[in-house]
Amino acid sequence: MPPTTARVDTAATSEDENFSYLPTPEETKYSSSPAYVHYTSNNTIYGTQFRAEPTPPKGVPLVCDASSDIFSKPIDVTKYDLIYAGAQKNLGPSGVVLVIAREDLIAKPVRDLPLMLRYNTHAKNESRYNTPPTFGIYMMGQVFKWILSQGGLKAMAVHNQAKAKLIYDVIDGSGFYRGVARAEDRSLMNISFRLPSEELEDKFIAEAASRGMDGLKGHRSAGGIRASIYNAFPPEGCRAFAEFMAEFEKKNG
Ligand SMILES: *Cc1c(COP(=O)(O)O)cnc(C)c1O
Repeated sequence: MPPTTARVDTAATSEDENFSYLPTPEETKYSSSPAYVHYTSNNTIYGTQFRAEPTPPKGVPLVCDASSDIFSKPIDVTKYDLIYAGAQKNLGPSGVVLVIAREDLIAKPVRDLPLMLRYNTHAKNESRYNTPPTFGIYMMGQVFKWILSQGGLKAMAVHNQAKAKLIYDVIDGSGFYRGVARAEDRSLMNISFRLPSEELEDKFIAEAASRGMDGLKGHRSAGGIRASIYNAFPPEGCRAFAEFMAEFEKKNG
C-alpha cells in the first residue's frame, strides 16, 4: 500500500512579500522526484495571475487549480496533465467542477480510492455514474454558448484585458490608490488595492455600495479592496467603477 499521507514541498513562494508577486522560474526549486507539480493559475485573494504555465521537470505531471480564471483566455491543455475548476467563478453555478485530465493519468488510481472518488469512474460513465447536478451542467452549457457568441476564448482574453485596464489605469495614475500585486503579475480577474487608511477603505466600500457596487471588501486574510471582474462581469460595470474611483479620489485624496 502506498502511504496515505503525502509530503508537500513548496517549490516556490512569495510569502516573504505577502504573496504580492509570482516567483520566476529561476526562483523555483523542485524537489528531486516530485509525483506532480501543482499550481493555482489565479490567486483570488491577493490578485496575482500566472501569465504562463510553470515548467515542471521532464516527465512530471502538471496539475492546475484553474477555478478562478478558466476560460478567461485561451488555454493550451496539452501543457497540462490535469486541470480542475470549480464552476462558481467563470463557468456557472456552484456545485459543478470541470475536470480536464489526460486519460492515461487517470486510468489507474494512485491509491486505493472508493469508486466515487476516482476520476476514471466519472470519465468512463460520461459524468453520469450517479445523477449529475443537471441544472449546473445545463447552465454551464449556456455559458459556453455565450462565450462562443462573444468570439470564443481569444475574444474573452481581449475583453478581459480591456476591462481590467479601465481599473488598473486609475490605480496607476493615482497617488491615492495602491495596487497590492506587482504590476507584471497582477490578475485580470481580481483587482486588489489599498487606500491610504482603513477608514477611507470603509468609506469607499460604503459609498460604492450606495451606488449598487457591492462585494468590494477584500478577502478576510488580505484586507483592503478587491474588485472581482470575472468573465460575466460587463465592461460597463468596470467603466462605472473606474469613474467612481476617480471621483472618490478627487473628493478624499
Ligand atoms: C474560489 C476558488 C476555489 C473554491 O473556493 P470556494 O470557497 O469553494 O468558492 C478553489 N480554488 C480557487 C483557485 C478559487 O479561486
